[in-house]
Amino acid sequence: MNYRKVTLKILFPLLTLLFLAGCQGFSSSRGTPSGPGVYHVVQKGQTLYRIAKAYEINVRTLMQVNKIRDAAAVRVGRRLWVPGAFRVLYVPPTDKSVRTAHKKTKKRKSSGDKKRPPVKNFLSWPVKGTLTSTFGKRNGRNHDGIDVGARKGTPIYAAAAGQVVFSDWGPTGYGLMVIIKHKNHLTTVYAHNSKNWVRKNTWVKKGQKIASVGSTGRSTGPHLHFEVRNDTHPRNPLKYLPSKR
Ligand SMILES: [Zn+2]
Repeated sequence: MNYRKVTLKILFPLLTLLFLAGCQGFSSSRGTPSGPGVYHVVQKGQTLYRIAKAYEINVRTLMQVNKIRDAAAVRVGRRLWVPGAFRVLYVPPTDKSVRTAHKKTKKRKSSGDKKRPPVKNFLSWPVKGTLTSTFGKRNGRNHDGIDVGARKGTPIYAAAAGQVVFSDWGPTGYGLMVIIKHKNHLTTVYAHNSKNWVRKNTWVKKGQKIASVGSTGRSTGPHLHFEVRNDTHPRNPLKYLPSKR
């Protein structure tokens, strides 16, 4: 312990200087919420888990120190205090973000990823209920879909024919969810379900029951969180749905 303290005292200013001189992409400072540590600025594709792993620190500790409640909500550019670290480390981006970035460049080159205009009435309403939240900015954050409030257990129907590509617990906050891939590069997402009635790889018809409304994941009451994606880009579901419910 003593050895480490001494080493830190001597090495740290040196490393900081070297680092600041050598790397523009990240910022490092010896600011100190408590004891030694560095600020790591979150870069594109870096998850909290990746960052914690790179610094060999417990993700819970990282969250507590930075007063983060939701690991998934950490945005690019956020300064994270990494206690105990003595220099800013390179954190590899997730494979997924690398893959999508790669795909995007490739596609742009071949101009295959052109923005397709929404096709009204391509989808049918996936649930009967009340529209409680629309697509777009919500409390300064983007809402990638719409919310339809309905009682727990209300049937959720496939908005169009397609293949179930996911039926399981989704990423943080989504709870139990189903993803269906349709034609026209469209995908629909059904989240916070209480139960999924379809399995991965099954083909479903438009209007087929696929799940039941619930409140799993980050949800304050039973509702369906419904997303429409064109390739990976979130689109406003209302532009694909009939006006009348
Ligand atoms: Zn939602």
